[in-house]
Amino acid sequence: MSYFQGNDVILHKENLAKNIYRLVIAAPDIAAFAKAGQFVHVTVPGYFLRRPISLCEADSSRGTITLVYEIRGEGTKALARLNEGETLDVMGPLGHGFTLDPGKKVIVVGGGIGVPPLLQAVKFYGANAKAILGFRDASAVILEEDFRRYGAETIVCTDNGTRGQKGFVTDALAGMVTKEKPDYLFACGPKVMLEKVAKIAADQKIECEVSLEERMGCGVGACLVCACRLKRTEEEKEYYGHVCKDGPVFPAKEVVF
Ligand SMILES: Cc1cc2nc3c(=O)[nH]c(=O)nc-3n(C[C@H](O)[C@H](O)[C@H](O)COP(=O)(O)OP(=O)(O)OC[C@H]3O[C@@H](n4cnc5c(N)ncnc54)[C@H](O)[C@@H]3O)c2cc1C
Repeated sequence: MSYFQGNDVILHKENLAKNIYRLVIAAPDIAAFAKAGQFVHVTVPGYFLRRPISLCEADSSRGTITLVYEIRGEGTKALARLNEGETLDVMGPLGHGFTLDPGKKVIVVGGGIGVPPLLQAVKFYGANAKAILGFRDASAVILEEDFRRYGAETIVCTDNGTRGQKGFVTDALAGMVTKEKPDYLFACGPKVMLEKVAKIAADQKIECEVSLEERMGCGVGACLVCACRLKRTEEEKEYYGHVCKDGPVFPAKEVVF
């Protein structure tokens, strides 16, 4: 695994929704090698352990990467205090991303802060991608226009119906999947959502990849904190893989939910 580490300048900071920020960072080396679904590990001033954040976009021609993160605890709160012009210690690109298979059809399914890691894949698939994005309510909706801008027909679902379709992304997916017959389903979001997407994919015999989150230490497979349960075949015994080096994107059929 080869990756870069440096103090990279924050070019742009934007508040997308309550407690959710977009950062555009000058990181030409990372942008040149990044693949959709990979992540970077950032050092937040004052904290020893890095925080993993997925690449929302990587633009090799501009030499920039875009991260979208939500304030969850002290580390991400400190990250939100950084401003344009300041630097951030960024390490990446890390992990394995989504399959990029030219000409194939894909449906991406994101829930909440699981939406940003899917944008770069949609950038690759363009009009061959459809996106189903789910949020708590209208105030939490992010990146809808960005998914449309890259050519994906985009459906927004909210739990309470204040924007788009009322209900869960998996309800919308169940209807769309039989009509569209995609080659791949990609999903990122809460585990319960990933499990339901994986079940729909298995029932419809569609290849499915899910991006997992676990608490992470080193990010490069040395500390083994981010263990997740996997199983390659029905007959094989369960074993532990690691989100940082084996993932974060896994074939859904190999994940033990
Ligand atoms: C591969 C990967 C990619 C990620 N991509 C993104 C992203 O694009 N945008 C984003 O907003 N977040 C992302 N996360 C989650 C993000 O790393 C955590 O929210 C962050 O590390 C929390 O740090 P904190 O110091 O603010 O919170 P802490 O004070 O450490 O914890 C606050 C809360 O966050 C939860 N938490 C902490 N670490 C994680 C974690 N790794 N996964 C899930 N929950 C966690 C804890 O359960 C706790 O309730 C990703 C995580 C992984 C593993």
